[in-house]
Amino acid sequence: MEELDVAIVGGGPGGLAAAAAILTARPELRVAVFERSSLRPRGASLGLQPNGVRALGAISPKLEAAVRQLDSQPGIRRHFADDDSLISIKDEDGPLKYVARHGGGPIIMCAWHSLQTTLAAELPEGVLRQQAPLDRYAEAPADGNGQGAGPTLHFKPGTHPPVNARLVVGADGSQSGVRVQLLDDGPPLFADTAIWRAVQPRPSWWFPEPGTYCIFGTPPHMMLCFGLVDGSVAWQAFGPWPKERLDEIGGGRMVYISDAVARREEGEARRARALEVFGGGCSMAVSLIKEADALAITEHGQFYHTAEACKVWGRCRVSLLGDAAHLSTPILSQGTAQAFEDALALGRAIGEHGATPQALRAYEMEPIHEESVRLFLDYRAGGAPPQEHLDNDRIGAWMHELAPLKPATAAGAAA
Ligand SMILES: Cc1cc2nc3c(=O)[nH]c(=O)nc-3n(C[C@H](O)[C@H](O)[C@H](O)COP(=O)(O)OP(=O)(O)OC[C@H]3O[C@@H](n4cnc5c(N)ncnc54)[C@H](O)[C@@H]3O)c2cc1C
Repeated sequence: MEELDVAIVGGGPGGLAAAAAILTARPELRVAVFERSSLRPRGASLGLQPNGVRALGAISPKLEAAVRQLDSQPGIRRHFADDDSLISIKDEDGPLKYVARHGGGPIIMCAWHSLQTTLAAELPEGVLRQQAPLDRYAEAPADGNGQGAGPTLHFKPGTHPPVNARLVVGADGSQSGVRVQLLDDGPPLFADTAIWRAVQPRPSWWFPEPGTYCIFGTPPHMMLCFGLVDGSVAWQAFGPWPKERLDEIGGGRMVYISDAVARREEGEARRARALEVFGGGCSMAVSLIKEADALAITEHGQFYHTAEACKVWGRCRVSLLGDAAHLSTPILSQGTAQAFEDALALGRAIGEHGATPQALRAYEMEPIHEESVRLFLDYRAGGAPPQEHLDNDRIGAWMHELAPLKPATAAGAAA
């Protein structure tokens, strides 16, 4: 059976960045990332906050440079109310320039799959194993010191042969199977909110400035929309959704994938539900929802782990990373940045302690989580519109100490 030092479950942004960080710190380690799917366009847009960009740069300046190429560099923010009136245009004082001026550095606005593909392309060949869905891991019996050997990972039948690993990291996202096996602490909580997203060709009425970022609507209905580097526009719209109707939008699943051809009618049903929530609002938001290809529309509920549920991340030779560890809300735009900070911290800990349980315990840290959940629930209850730049600034998220990761010294590497 193949023997690995570190097996990472999940080839999303967090898992791929973690592999890069571990291999920067300990190039000699045998690391693999097991991704259930294959690399292909899925998901929509995300904003990577400055601390996430700096975490990537600390893992590898080359990686940061590659990801910066994806940035559509929005510089002007326009906010329209439900009745189409312009609430504000922000240029000099816009959030993106605000962030840069306050020392945070750039925010990168890009498509999820282009971030995933770019991170994957920077890994050595053979590290990423695609179409390798984990079924479960089996822990080896404890040795005399109560430590135990590494677990064995078993994949869905007919996909990937089992492997042994000294450490297992569950970077398998919001519905983490590794988390269920490790903590068995119940599903994340529903935030009474649904999110619809799509990427589509730029509409004819779109704004002439290349870097326009739009917010359509007023709380608790908001659509965030911006252009991508390939000329398309990406939007995400979130609004209230009753718990009793959760099954209609995918139940407990956060579905980021637009479905294959046979599911056109499902896409139309998603569109109808999005229009049910946004139909009476800003006409630009309505036209984007109406014009999107039904197959491109994704839909899911917004869930979160409570701060209490994020206090313990790991045990023995298994730990969690990114959304699997601390599924948060979109209000601070910190999901991907936190996953990258985790990846950097994990690389640093493995650099120091080797592929050992001590490294996992040293890495497991408090994410920016509690504040994100509090702000989202407040906003959801009719509070102020998202001001993620002010809130990130206030809680100091951009200013985390993120020193460059160096290969471990020969003495340390003996561990
Ligand atoms: C397909 C997809 C699209 C997304 N699109 C957006 C978006 O458009 N906008 C946005 O803001 N956020 C999006 N997200 C969420 C966002 O990426 C995360 O919140 C954030 O980047 C943290 O990343 P992560 O690596 O911890 O988790 P994720 O990005 O959720 O990645 C988890 C990875 O684990 C894989 N996985 C899950 N279970 C298994 C298993 N049993 N075996 C092997 N692999 C497994 C998944 O396929 C996925 O690639 C998306 C997530 C996914 C999975």
